Amino acid sequence: MIPITVVEFGTAEEELVLQVLRSGNVAQGPMVARFEEEFASLVGTKHAVAVNNGTTALVAALQVLDLEPGDEVLTTPFTFVATLNAILEAGATATFADIDESDFNVTAKTLSEGLTERTRALLPVHLYGQAADTAPIAALAEEHGLGLIEDAAQSHGATVDGRGAGSFGIGTFSFYATKNLTTGEGGMITTDDDDIADRLRVLRNQGMRARYQYEVAGHNYRLTDLQAALVLPQLERYPSVIASRQANAAHLTAGLMGIEGITPPVAAPGRQHVWHQYTIRVDSTAGIDREAFVERLHAGGVGAGIYYPKLVFDYDCYRGREDVRVGSYPVAERIVREVVSLPVHPHLTTDQLDHIIATVADAAARS
Ligand SMILES: *Cc1c(COP(=O)(O)O)cnc(C)c1O
Repeated sequence: MIPITVVEFGTAEEELVLQVLRSGNVAQGPMVARFEEEFASLVGTKHAVAVNNGTTALVAALQVLDLEPGDEVLTTPFTFVATLNAILEAGATATFADIDESDFNVTAKTLSEGLTERTRALLPVHLYGQAADTAPIAALAEEHGLGLIEDAAQSHGATVDGRGAGSFGIGTFSFYATKNLTTGEGGMITTDDDDIADRLRVLRNQGMRARYQYEVAGHNYRLTDLQAALVLPQLERYPSVIASRQANAAHLTAGLMGIEGITPPVAAPGRQHVWHQYTIRVDSTAGIDREAFVERLHAGGVGAGIYYPKLVFDYDCYRGREDVRVGSYPVAERIVREVVSLPVHPHLTTDQLDHIIATVADAAARS
């Protein structure tokens, strides 16, 4: 089976982790500081604040907006569950806006249709490695005096007209094992705002500025030097990882173009797509339903995945909650039944890419 993700480390990671072990400084220390500095430079922000995972990055980013119960955070229905859980944990109400089928993301237009008197923040998600069309979204937030949090958990290094995903508002990132950059578990918050960065640093460390001087009721959101050591060598290699993900995506698209019922993903003009996922759509003209299609891919040795099988609120645990306000989202409702993600990671060989293409063509043709 060609896996959808491969997690592999080299000797550079081994050596740096060993260095941390030998230093005896295994909690937050100089490696985390280096990671923050280098990550801020990747995203193009003044500050980057490391935290222990992508979900807490979202929670902390929401906490600095000082939301009150009933305040609404407007996000996408087509995302990983962490986006929704973070809004609820921050004590706000989640509302949703439809997505665009070309990039799977919310747009300024769909968001503006979802605004109410209680909307306090916009929370677009840069899904699959491609940033949303963020400049108009930032303009919409500005116009209405709303907070802007960008969930860039899947889009480290993605850009829109040269600007980094996560640099328009408060950016949040994940370094979970399967993400493009990983610390096993880890997260980061990016911002240009000195005051927000300062509050986040205090918040992540029990609300403490100097030893035993507590300013707010904080939390322990800290990342460790062991984790940061794991990602520093990956950051050095990351430009070539992005290039190989892009080359693999281009190879797949060239091979999949023109197959009846299959729509390959596109990188919008001006956007650097970092291809966390390569996600095709299988529509009704394929003559096979999506689940049977995926079974055929698996039978053919292609480790395809469905991200995500349902809209984020479409589970019993969220139904009937007053803080999860659901409407109708025709594009997202259709897309969620069509998506299939194929392997695009940098460890793929040309033969494997060609095998993926042949298996997809075969699965789509047989009905
Ligand atoms: C992975 C992910 C998160 C959560 O990150 P964790 O590090 O797993 O907590 C949040 N949002 C999106 C879109 C993600 O893909």
